[in-house]
Amino acid sequence: MSGTLYLVPTPIGNLGDISKRMADTLALADFIAAEDTRVTVKLLNHLGLKKPMTPYHRHNLDTAGPAILARLQAGESCALVTDAGTPAISDPGEDLVALCAGAGVTVCAIPGPCALSTALSVSGLPTARFTFEGFLPQNKKNRRARLDALRGEERTMVFYEAPHKLADTLAELTDTLGADRRGVLCRELTKLHEEILRAPLGELAELFRSREPRGEFVLVVEGAAPLPEEQAGEEDALARVEQLRAQGLSLKQACAQAAGELGWGRRDLYQLALGKR
Ligand code: SAM
Repeated sequence: MSGTLYLVPTPIGNLGDISKRMADTLALADFIAAEDTRVTVKLLNHLGLKKPMTPYHRHNLDTAGPAILARLQAGESCALVTDAGTPAISDPGEDLVALCAGAGVTVCAIPGPCALSTALSVSGLPTARFTFEGFLPQNKKNRRARLDALRGEERTMVFYEAPHKLADTLAELTDTLGADRRGVLCRELTKLHEEILRAPLGELAELFRSREPRGEFVLVVEGAAPLPEEQAGEEDALARVEQLRAQGLSLKQACAQAAGELGWGRRDLYQLALGKR
């Protein structure tokens, strides 16, 4: 009979977040698949555990995944851990879970620390419906397309970001979603210097124009105002387009955003705006 693949979350900063079940699972597993064995060995030392480890990360998953599956099929149990947080959430693991589940191996997720849920819960923004955006694409074209797709997003949005890209991301989100949109920047969650900054996107962008971002960040952003039940009148729609144009948006972008906000079809509003020029 096959063994079980256990997904074991690890602290995102505070070692006090190690749970009994997390430690017990690491102790019971036959071997540990780790994103970086040098990081995981420190955790094992803290827990007083010695375990065989095998690396599993984004650069070796094509070969390491099938090798881990073969060991599971031979009856061993495996605990998958990453450097911090929940495996498979913006972390290696997604492919291994799919591979094992597809092969009929039992996959068992242990609940635990995750920067996404920690930031969302502390944000104070609506949590009933949200979208996890993870890291924005690095490729310029794909990034632009993703940002454009988020213009009318009504759900709360959660982004992960690296410190060296934070200032640019805040500026781009301000341009795309508007300076007034509420944002919550969560820095160094669960750590000594944890900081929760609640401010409109424009203010956060301004702040990080001069302040060097240090540590790890999750950004939570309020969703767009829901569509009005009724389509706004032509005058109001055109006034909103002009307002957005004055903020630097192209006519097309302004029409797309205003259309989303005011219950118009993008194309209809664009045609109307063109006709009035
Ligand atoms: N799997 C992890 C999880 O469960 O949250 C996420 C791993 S992802 C590679 C790393 C990103 O998570 C960081 O760039 C940052 O955006 C976010 N992150 C991780 N730990 C954090 C912390 N203590 N405070 C704020 N953000 C954190």
